[in-house]
Amino acid sequence: MKIMNDQVLKKWETLVIACKNYYIDSIPTGMSDSEYDTLERKALAEDGFSVRDYVFQTFMQGKRAKNAYIEKIKKTKVEGMSMLEAILGVTSGKKLYWDLKYDGSSIAIYLNPRNGTLKRIISCGNLNLSSEGIDQTAKLSGHLPKQFPKGIVAIQAEALVDVNRIDNPDRARQKANGLVNSVYLADEVKSLLTLRAYRYYVDDSPEGIAISRMDYREVLGSFETVRSRVDGHIMFAPADSWTTEELQKMPGFTETDCTVTSTGTFILDGWVGYTEKGECIGALKFAGAGSGTEMLTTKVKSIQWNNQVVKGKDSWSANVIIDPIVIKGCTIKKPSAGSVGKMIKEKITPGAEVSIILANSTIPMVGKTVSPGNGDYQWPTCSCGYNMSEKDVYGSLLKCGNPGCSERLGRMRKYLSGLKNIGELNLGPFLVIDRFKWENTDVDINKLLGFVMKGDPDSYRDYLMGYMGTDLQKRNMELVWKSSYQVLYEILIGS
Ligand SMILES: [Zn+2]
Repeated sequence: MKIMNDQVLKKWETLVIACKNYYIDSIPTGMSDSEYDTLERKALAEDGFSVRDYVFQTFMQGKRAKNAYIEKIKKTKVEGMSMLEAILGVTSGKKLYWDLKYDGSSIAIYLNPRNGTLKRIISCGNLNLSSEGIDQTAKLSGHLPKQFPKGIVAIQAEALVDVNRIDNPDRARQKANGLVNSVYLADEVKSLLTLRAYRYYVDDSPEGIAISRMDYREVLGSFETVRSRVDGHIMFAPADSWTTEELQKMPGFTETDCTVTSTGTFILDGWVGYTEKGECIGALKFAGAGSGTEMLTTKVKSIQWNNQVVKGKDSWSANVIIDPIVIKGCTIKKPSAGSVGKMIKEKITPGAEVSIILANSTIPMVGKTVSPGNGDYQWPTCSCGYNMSEKDVYGSLLKCGNPGCSERLGRMRKYLSGLKNIGELNLGPFLVIDRFKWENTDVDINKLLGFVMKGDPDSYRDYLMGYMGTDLQKRNMELVWKSSYQVLYEILIGS
């Protein structure tokens, strides 16, 4: 999207407010539906201004959001028999539909059930761990049909990469996860990602009730398939489904982890069953797929430190370069070291033998340490010139130990320059005291700024330090308060 200039924004201000009211805040728009539609079309025609893109990118992109409706699917591991035998075992006389248990990145599509249009798209993450996801509306809305059947409130879908569209099919799953979770890569999202809808949830309107009585395959089939206008590849499609009888006539079809469907070839880790009316009865998983219990070990070759200060954090993270190993079809070369504290404790250094796990089933990470390494952490040097070492480990993080660090000052200045006014100052992202929630304290920003205005650094420090509980928090505050005072002084008083 083009960066909108102030003039254009000013011109469509009423429209932006109405759009935000409706899509983000779920309150009345302040105008009639037809007035809204007319304005939206005019903005696009006159200035190429897509108000929905603007509103989602400005207010929602990357924000955490609660998922509703979407339920966890009960899984059963298939062992000692073929997948088809397991499917036949579940069926017991009822008509059931089966579709692929896609192995990509789960998303929830929320609709306005009154007119079948999109409200929001949220990633589902790991439903075992939380019901929260990241808003993906701006990134993925272009994949969807303009309209869905009325009466549907939510659709569960999987974001996938067709294995025929990338060089290394083993990486299809990681690629899909990467594309959904990255803030960048908009072009790749458009050219590679396919959304496959497999489950729907209805409201209790007459249309919703009618859908709940309809045949599962028929409902899915009524979702429009969307093709890319550039190369014709499929951007959105309902999932293919098969009845038990159909699968029986296709020997071997259910026994592979990469399946050809009418709209693409995808990686799967099992099959999911539905009743005729679309109620999910559970999933059958291939044994060995995604169990996360495999103990594969390898040798650490070196440590790679990553400066996270540019990302608004106040720390450095580590990856370990290992002898590559393959887990669930993915070649892992550079897993995350996890906590720096744990790295020190277990001497995860060159020569160490470690196991690699997929945390949250997607992020490669060092698991157990079988034997320690040579103790050389290959500590990084900050651009301010400071050489980091073991004494700069703060809990699970490594931080530049220079209280006047130029990177930290830069990060704080950048944070302040993003505020509309100093009253918006939030000590969380400004100071970055890990695992400390300022919102649970009675800290008074005006009082704090008052110390800066008076040129009283000691009171400023004492006031902040008074809130620090643990020794770790106190050390952390010692490290950052002076820089924070300095940059506040710069903007309040002038340097
Ligand atoms: Zn530094």
